[in-house]
Amino acid sequence: MGRPHVMVIPYPAQGHVLPLMSFSRYLASQGIQVTFVNTEFNHNRIINSLSKSSRDDHVVDGIKLVSIPDGLDDSPEERNVPGMLSESVLHFMPTKVEELIERMISETSGAVISCFVADQSLGWAMEVAAKFGIRRAAFCPAAAASMVLGFSIQKLVYDGLIDYDGTPNVNKTIQLSPGMPEMETDKLVWVCLKNKDSQRNIFQLMLQNNKSIESTDWLLCNSVFELEAAAFEQSPKILPIGPIGLAHHSLEEGSMSLGSFLPEDRDCLDWLDRQIPGSVIYIAFGSYGVMGKVQLEELAIGIELTKRPVLWVTSGGDQPPMRVGSGQVIVVKWAPQREVLLHRAIGCFVSHCGWNSTLEGVQSGIPFLCIPYFADQFINKTYICNVWKIGLGFEQDERGIISRLEVKRKIDEIMRDNGEFKKRAIKIKEIVMKNVVKDGISYENLNKFVNWIKTEVN
Ligand code: UDP
Repeated sequence: MGRPHVMVIPYPAQGHVLPLMSFSRYLASQGIQVTFVNTEFNHNRIINSLSKSSRDDHVVDGIKLVSIPDGLDDSPEERNVPGMLSESVLHFMPTKVEELIERMISETSGAVISCFVADQSLGWAMEVAAKFGIRRAAFCPAAAASMVLGFSIQKLVYDGLIDYDGTPNVNKTIQLSPGMPEMETDKLVWVCLKNKDSQRNIFQLMLQNNKSIESTDWLLCNSVFELEAAAFEQSPKILPIGPIGLAHHSLEEGSMSLGSFLPEDRDCLDWLDRQIPGSVIYIAFGSYGVMGKVQLEELAIGIELTKRPVLWVTSGGDQPPMRVGSGQVIVVKWAPQREVLLHRAIGCFVSHCGWNSTLEGVQSGIPFLCIPYFADQFINKTYICNVWKIGLGFEQDERGIISRLEVKRKIDEIMRDNGEFKKRAIKIKEIVMKNVVKDGISYENLNKFVNWIKTEVN
């Protein structure tokens, strides 16, 4: 019996590559051979962010990093056009993955891949796997509630809540089942009223993916049963295995950075060592880091008004207009976020509520302040504020802006509430951690999956 070999294919965005890389590290630690397929553009960013010694053979921690073209120019003009990337992923990547497999087969004169693990949003990858007779699993790097929403599209159309392009017919709060987070119809994952073409594409893609996923052997979700029991009960095919990453591995210095598109600024960890426990506001809005100038300024001034120490990640976006260098404020391009959140100096997390950030904050027992702006972030914010009750949102003023006073008010509230948010956050963290140790649901699901890969190889 040969050693099992898994080909892992993420959607080419940072919030998808990182959790699938963590998943790959886990598979590799279980003796499984892993080939990780990035687009050339992302592959080069990842290699350039690695230390020199790991760059040479493109094998890191037992994971072979390979790449395929994505059909786009390297110019930011082309890459930043909304919808360009998802178009190329859909129309260009499938052939490139097929060519890669054919190359691998001819080089080794035989079948080499025992299983595909592809991002749930890449339905076509399931079809490519089927074509080559390869077994397959879909991996969802978002909340189970986001998947359940995708599975509910037909019903939402039937009930007259949205039209055939996904546009809401009414502005209404809905709940897909009791216990699931409430959702506003004008903030559903695909809704993007400013760019109807892009919305239509995402919506169609979700419908198509629902079909492709029906044929997968596994539908794994980077989440935790107790965090979203109602969603998992609604769609029992979705299996929780999260949080993948820290929880399943011991943390070695710098070891979690594999898959980062930007080099991590590790000096901020030394700065954190010098701060009072629980005192620092950590601000990071994920890999896109988009925020309008006016909002950025109000946020920066509001934070300064709190007179608390701040670690602010720009992700390569605009610098916050603050007096940096006073010892109170440190601004970095890219932080080792998972390690930062575990640092005892952190008091709260001002976040855009991307699912990875949400899980990372939850498993660190940190209260949140939420500024969602896009896609599934609204669902995640509802979990944080209304379901788990470990964070607060902000009210917008008549301009649609969160004012400096509102920023100060909410930060003071969460840092000073006699620790009620913190107590609940620690409780949720404990629930989460129980899932990743022996007999925990995530642990057992993950093990079942690994054993399935190992036993069915011939
Ligand atoms: N991240 C990081 N350093 C930073 C900012 C973000 O390592 O300075 C990581 C973060 O830990 C998370 C990912 O980038 O794993 C962002 O994913 P998320 O789903 O939160 O947001 P997205 O980028 O998809 O909007």
